[in-house]
Amino acid sequence: MTNAAGASHSLTRAEAERRARLLRVRAYAVDLDVTGDTDYDTATVVDFACTEPGADTFVELKGARLVKAVLNGQPLDPARLDGNRLPLTGLRAENRLEVEAVAPYSHGGEGIHRFTDPEDGEVYLYGQAPLDDAQRIFACFDQPDLKAPITLRVTAPPQWTVRGNAAGARVAPGRWEFEAPPPLSTYLFSLLAGPWHVRAAEHDGIPLGLLCRRSLAPRLDADAEELFSATAAAFDRYHALFGVRYPFTKYDQSFVPEFSGGAVENPGLVNFREEFLFRAVATGSERRRRFVVMAHELAHMWFGDLVALRWWDDIWLNEAFAEYMGWRVAGETGRHPAALADFAIWRERWGHLADERPSTHPVAPDDVTDTALAMLNFDGISYAKGAAALRQLSALIGDDVFLTGLRAYFDRFRFANATLADLLAVLGETAGRDLTGWAELWLRSTGANTLRPVVTRAADGTLETLAVEQSGRPVRPHSTAVAAYASDGSVRRVPFTLDRDAVPLDGFAGSPTGTVLLLNDGAATYAKVRLDDGSRAALPAVLPDLDDALARAVIWTAVIDAVRDALMPPAEFLALLVAALPAEREEGVFDEVLAFARDGLARRGLIPFAPLAGVCATALADAAPASGRQLTMARALVSVADAGVLRSWLAGQDLPDGLTVDAGLRWALLLRLAVLGAAGEDDIAVEELRDPSAAGAERAAACRAALPTAAAKAKAWDVLVGDERPRIAMATAANFWQPGQEPLTDPYVERYFADVPAILGGRYALAGLQVVRFSFPQYDSRALPLADAMLARADLDPSLRREIGDGADELRRWTRLGEMLPGPSSKPRIAVRRVDEGR
Ligand SMILES: [Zn+2]
Repeated sequence: MTNAAGASHSLTRAEAERRARLLRVRAYAVDLDVTGDTDYDTATVVDFACTEPGADTFVELKGARLVKAVLNGQPLDPARLDGNRLPLTGLRAENRLEVEAVAPYSHGGEGIHRFTDPEDGEVYLYGQAPLDDAQRIFACFDQPDLKAPITLRVTAPPQWTVRGNAAGARVAPGRWEFEAPPPLSTYLFSLLAGPWHVRAAEHDGIPLGLLCRRSLAPRLDADAEELFSATAAAFDRYHALFGVRYPFTKYDQSFVPEFSGGAVENPGLVNFREEFLFRAVATGSERRRRFVVMAHELAHMWFGDLVALRWWDDIWLNEAFAEYMGWRVAGETGRHPAALADFAIWRERWGHLADERPSTHPVAPDDVTDTALAMLNFDGISYAKGAAALRQLSALIGDDVFLTGLRAYFDRFRFANATLADLLAVLGETAGRDLTGWAELWLRSTGANTLRPVVTRAADGTLETLAVEQSGRPVRPHSTAVAAYASDGSVRRVPFTLDRDAVPLDGFAGSPTGTVLLLNDGAATYAKVRLDDGSRAALPAVLPDLDDALARAVIWTAVIDAVRDALMPPAEFLALLVAALPAEREEGVFDEVLAFARDGLARRGLIPFAPLAGVCATALADAAPASGRQLTMARALVSVADAGVLRSWLAGQDLPDGLTVDAGLRWALLLRLAVLGAAGEDDIAVEELRDPSAAGAERAAACRAALPTAAAKAKAWDVLVGDERPRIAMATAANFWQPGQEPLTDPYVERYFADVPAILGGRYALAGLQVVRFSFPQYDSRALPLADAMLARADLDPSLRREIGDGADELRRWTRLGEMLPGPSSKPRIAVRRVDEGR
């Protein structure tokens, strides 16, 4: 709905720089009326100064119908709104702009998202402004370095609760007024409105709130104590580390429906995906990762909210710090001592994957020319590689110096904006050294180094000499350690710094055969790690009994990398999996390794499913009844099992002692049965009646997409192309391509490339990118020439170029790997597909 001539414009850096020089925004007063069902009234008064009186600029308003605009008392013609820009001419030194508009609610996660709970019909609203969707909610100068206090007033149905970034209160039935928060970047504005279920507490003088929709209240109530105490622990740790008090007046954490991402760090009002409110039983890994996300968002109150980035090329300044701090305090609060194992195998590997893509970019790029491009950098590089680089920086200058520098940084840029150069200047002053060279190597370059042991052995296999060498450019300084894990349980660990191509490592001569030599023990640096042949041979004996969770995570990561890089045959990987994975104590590590085996190898026909089911069954048999570990292993088994097990579990038979088959597990059972063609639409419909929740609708969509019938595939394709509900579209996309269904899905390989602009278009950017990614024909090598043809088009949208290029790169890797393997039985499905066609 727009009365605009022309499409909306993505703000460029040059435009943002000019406007930042020109304007000083004094304050926004935003008044919303959300009593309507399809759209809401938005009225904004913005006071701002102009450094060059007489100059022109524009204010942004996207997707709304402009009713009235008045600049310094002079009405402006609403028809002058061009796309999302209203020109403002002849500015004075001090200006007042008044804008009234009518804006539509969204159902895709941008602006004000409106959700109707299928369980009770209640309506919930939440604001989602990143990166440039604040302008969907109120007229604003929508760029991160034009910060201003945003005072909010809301008219809502009288029975609703309304929350904003700052503290506020109901001043009359249905009327809410909020205090002015400290200056905010517009993208951090948010609000909630609806009959939210609220829990309140206080810690260290800070009012805390937890909110969710009413139908999830039992879940929130069951976990409220854990959530409040986790929040309090993270607050205490940050106050100790940062030496700067929490800079906002209250801290609400809300769990919101139909959320595309993990969470958003709106000051004082963080929105999380509501899947973080677990059903009755949750795994240890789920609780740990929820803690890390909560701690990540809280860290943003300093990194991103108190000190904001100036422009989107410094997204890493927000994300790398929040990522680093989230994992750090998970360990330091004592709540999740082995959290770094998850970081190593899950997050850091995410960084490595992104860093190997055609689309890789420096942690701190300098070519983010407009806001639309910025959305692409919320990836493993900005988060995980950036966090790993910060761990190296702390090791280089010393943690005390690092923290002292951060305190100075918060002080100097309090409620303002900063850049990489600003951060380096402050840390460099504190450390008494110039850090620009370090930043060039770690933040301004791309790619990972590979660390490789160079070993000589005596005739009996005893180790004689050990050196470590790095490959990949640029050569970076790596401060980490090497450890030797012997089969008798003894460990020898030596720290080293590798600041050139290779260094010798003393202290390991005489290590017997059967010892695993692990470079980057402790996962201190960001690098790929290789194992020497002797260590590799020792893994099946050493790995199951290795006590150090982080060492196991680094080893499993090295093994996965070796398979992906065609240095280890899938059969050897599978043998190691069978020998060592059932004993893996860390649920997160187990899940990551199994996911690689299942989605990377078994779905491509590179290894069979049956031994994976055997691994899971063995691990399940050893898990304590009713434990999180038991649930982890049960879910893992369900994801790879054959129909017999699934049917009996669904019928409540032959269940492991203590295992509860709740709605979540029932849906998982049904999904796998659907994939195998052993369940149909009738079963899905019955389950949907049993679980009429929003989560149920999403799981039903996943099951429908997986069904092996032509009609189901046609319907699913319509959903992933055209359904505006982001979560339904994502669930459909993620389950559309299934091994063994090639005759049904073949036509969609070409359809994908024809439809992909429509799949992306019209969706909230983050959701659209994910649907594009999930629906890429990753298991069919016929997609390669089609992808290449699309990439050859000069006019291809940059987001599509990135997603298609990366999807094709991954597919090409596996296609090559399949061609290298001996024997027809181990050829990947992507290569044997043409044989299947002859049936
Ligand atoms: Zn973040």
